[in-house]
Amino acid sequence: MAKKNLKRDVVIIGSGPAGLTAAIYSARANLRPLLIDAPADAHKQTAPGGQLMITTDVENYPGFSEGIQGPELMAEFRQQAERFGTEFLEAWINEVDLAERPFTLYTDEQTIEAETLIIASGASAKWLGIPGEAKIPAGFGGNGVSACATCDGPLPHFRNKTIVVVGGGDTAMEEATFLTRYAGRVVVVHRRDKLRASKIMQEKAFNNQKIDFIWNTEVEEIVGTDHEGVTGVKLHDLKTGEKRIFPCAGVFIAIGHKPNTDLFKGQLDMDEVGYLKTSGHSTSTNIPGVFACGDVQDSVYRQAVTAAGTGCMSAIDAERFLDHLPVAMPTGEEVTIEGEHISPDHRAIITADGHLIPNSPEIMAQEDCE
Ligand SMILES: Cc1cc2nc3c(=O)[nH]c(=O)nc-3n(C[C@H](O)[C@H](O)[C@H](O)COP(=O)(O)OP(=O)(O)OC[C@H]3O[C@@H](n4cnc5c(N)ncnc54)[C@H](O)[C@@H]3O)c2cc1C
Repeated sequence: MAKKNLKRDVVIIGSGPAGLTAAIYSARANLRPLLIDAPADAHKQTAPGGQLMITTDVENYPGFSEGIQGPELMAEFRQQAERFGTEFLEAWINEVDLAERPFTLYTDEQTIEAETLIIASGASAKWLGIPGEAKIPAGFGGNGVSACATCDGPLPHFRNKTIVVVGGGDTAMEEATFLTRYAGRVVVVHRRDKLRASKIMQEKAFNNQKIDFIWNTEVEEIVGTDHEGVTGVKLHDLKTGEKRIFPCAGVFIAIGHKPNTDLFKGQLDMDEVGYLKTSGHSTSTNIPGVFACGDVQDSVYRQAVTAAGTGCMSAIDAERFLDHLPVAMPTGEEVTIEGEHISPDHRAIITADGHLIPNSPEIMAQEDCE
């Protein structure tokens, strides 16, 4: 069967806070964005609305003084994007060709051509895949199990309680240290007899009176009740083979994140983990007309509000680009949709066919005299 062909000025991948904010801004700018998001899939842990669909209370998103449930917040984002005319398509993007504009995106049933592409495909927290870890009602995810201490650590449920952190890298040490602000005691459970974290993070954790370690041990299961949430973890000592229940009120899985960027390998610049590299002064990637926002390009902050902020930037960048205005690139140059490159010091413009045009008043005055 022939694939349906769609063509749009602005195409957005991902309907988390970044993608939906990019949609709100570009729809209000009359750019009629097409937003594509993967369907709900329990195995791949995807849900339209992104990562906040698997959490409960969001207490730190500005504008909701009493807090709001993650799925409710994302429903608000979506309605706002719909209100200004965003077009939605539920599909997996399986392949992209970014060699030339319009860029081409492939789903099972469509080929989509995009004059500008905003990538907001997010990141996925890595999970252990053990019983009790899944989102409620299948497990205790959102009821004592989390993968984000900044997000969930301050919740009343964890105050002055014993919390388990699973992992041995920088993420785990950061999460454990942060959680000591609220928890009575934080216990790091690690599979090996030493940490992978950087020396400075290790020292910080070792010197913290509230942090203890259980070495050479795996968490095999998270246990609890619907009413209380998490009540403990089943531990397996890998040296002695002993198994026991360790009582705790919460479990933070801190074994890292994986940005959803496999699709762009070999086409877009990324760091060693796979996070997309953007300009810093804009959300431009190394390909003019391709912008990235949210967790897919942010290994540091990873919050809904920062994702929404960069989503707004991406929409404004795409709008500028389509309006023939220059957009800052990771090289420091600025580039227009016609392929003109403006040097980082703004003293020269190189046209798409390679001509150099001076852009400094002194050089131009000199040329006028000659
Ligand atoms: C358990 C948990 C609790 C959290 N709590 C908070 C909190 O309280 N406060 C806070 O500020 N932050 C919280 N966060 C972090 C926050 O959820 C993220 O920072 C935010 O969701 C990032 O938004 P995003 O739009 O960049 O990406 P995401 O929310 O990850 O959305 C990306 C979307 O892209 C889609 N996608 C990916 N690849 C493809 C593809 N090939 N084709 C089509 N679609 C694709 C995905 O399905 C997904 O829907 C939490 C995170 C977790 C995991």
